[in-house]
Amino acid sequence: MTPISRAPAVHAPLDTFSVSGGELVVGGQPLSRLAARVGQTPFYAYDRSAIDRRIAALRAALPATIRLHYAMKANPMPALIAHMRDRVDGIDVASAGEMMVALDAGVAPTAISFAGPGKREAELRQAVAAGILINVESEHELGRLTAIAADTGWVPRVALRVNPDFELKASGMKMSGGPKPFGIDAERIPAVLAGLADSGLQFEGFHIFSGSQNLKPEAIVEAQQKSFALAVDLAAHAPAPVRSLNLGGGLGIPYFPGNLPLDLAPIGANLAQIAGQARQALPDAELCLELGRYLVGEAGIYVCRVIDRKVSRGETYLVTDGGMHHHLSASGNFGQVVRKNYPLAIGNRMDAPADEVVSVVGPLCTPLDLLGERMSLAHAEIGDLVVVFQSGAYGATASPQQFLGHPAVTEVLV
Ligand SMILES: *Cc1c(COP(=O)(O)O)cnc(C)c1O
Repeated sequence: MTPISRAPAVHAPLDTFSVSGGELVVGGQPLSRLAARVGQTPFYAYDRSAIDRRIAALRAALPATIRLHYAMKANPMPALIAHMRDRVDGIDVASAGEMMVALDAGVAPTAISFAGPGKREAELRQAVAAGILINVESEHELGRLTAIAADTGWVPRVALRVNPDFELKASGMKMSGGPKPFGIDAERIPAVLAGLADSGLQFEGFHIFSGSQNLKPEAIVEAQQKSFALAVDLAAHAPAPVRSLNLGGGLGIPYFPGNLPLDLAPIGANLAQIAGQARQALPDAELCLELGRYLVGEAGIYVCRVIDRKVSRGETYLVTDGGMHHHLSASGNFGQVVRKNYPLAIGNRMDAPADEVVSVVGPLCTPLDLLGERMSLAHAEIGDLVVVFQSGAYGATASPQQFLGHPAVTEVLV
């Protein structure tokens, strides 16, 4: 019998930020000084050098021909998009609003692609006028683009988003397999491709995105192999050579106790094999991955200040000026089935032992406003800074900031 480990699950060690003089160092500054220069709490801080290190590590693990795209819905801060512009090979947008931010940041239209169900007529016209690649999500959308082409004389660049008949196993969010609002069912694609021949649209390839937040390399490898095989099959029906094959993403980061960082080695080895096969099977195709949280999630922190410290029937609460209205994901209300704690620390007492069990809550009148439940943290006083790690993705723009009318969060790129 294999012995069963009963060690309590803990957060994976965090080594993105250093500590000096008892303070977390972010963007080269001790946290309390950074807070002073930001001028308010709560705030998000995103560290450029941490993003750069992540991208470099990823490129080192993947074959050179695999292009990296950033899915900007993870964090659309304009300064961050401008930073990413020169570091990734493309920006994936999910709305015309995001497209405008990417264009303003100086991203070339040829490096922008647009996926998402329910694209409105006006958004499609904007995308066609801009000359970006449109990942088509339905046959109706294709019809709209054909009409826009006839009306304007501009040639829409399209890829078909395929809803495959498989899913990304063990994924935080499944976005393929079975009935889905995303993409066109794989079995319909040959007929759709046949209709593209004289449509006035420029067919460029396929987009297959099967899921998100995955920490199991074998599941990612399997989904990428199946996606590639599916694309090769479908390419036989295409009116033009496949120039772009987006194999999706799904690379996850460790948020919760027991999560371990993703091992990139098997993913890199598998993509090297796929890239080799692609040279024969899809010789004109550029292969890309589109990643959101994997590129930016670990490079960001959320910082809030302790406003009150109270004991209720034996339990200690740190009440802060931040909470679920700024950071819905850390409160556990953004897609988690069972609430678990993000990694937290008292950012100005990093050298003190984490020997006090407390719950960290926000200022909202709801029990959902919880940032940390019964966590071991350094003893904190009013005025101290609570740090929520792994907060560079799905933070400010994924949170209900109007709820209860508290001040908005601010963001800095350091
Ligand atoms: C949300 C999304 C992403 C980014 O997902 P992450 O889990 O942040 O990597 C990429 N592509 C598509 C199509 C998405 O919808």
